[in-house]
Amino acid sequence: MPAVNAIGQAWTQLMDLLAKVISPDWGALVNLLPVFLAPLVGLFVFVVVVAWLAYGVRKPRARIRYAFGPRRAEIGPDGTALFPAGFPFDAAKALVYPAGEIRGDDGAPLTVTCPMCHVDRSAEISTCGSCGLVLRIQAPARIVGPAGPPPGGAAVA
Ligand SMILES: [Zn+2]
Repeated sequence: MPAVNAIGQAWTQLMDLLAKVISPDWGALVNLLPVFLAPLVGLFVFVVVVAWLAYGVRKPRARIRYAFGPRRAEIGPDGTALFPAGFPFDAAKALVYPAGEIRGDDGAPLTVTCPMCHVDRSAEISTCGSCGLVLRIQAPARIVGPAGPPPGGAAVA
């Protein structure tokens, strides 16, 4: 019965191994040490790699998205500031803001010139009171902090 023999052999080997552990043959144990250490070292390396990858995914990105800030208005030949139609502006400071902004960096309400009839109005009002043109532009994202992972993240992939 070879099967029984094989089981008997395995049992004998197991008993030999147990005997080594129970009554330590230190030389043999030291020889066995790498066998026990290898999985631990492997696990340690695995944890380090995973932690490193997790940090790589979550660390603050050096790449930061900045929306365009206000820019100086061009000065016309007569010395007055020229504000492009459709762009919010701060007339007192001669600053032109990105389309869609309704307040300046100092919180002051901005003015916008209607691109159709060239009548000035508050940038907060999307519909021109003069010609009825609706100017609805989404303010660009003004992200001061680091950009996070892409929206949706793994759920999208
Ligand atoms: Zn208008």
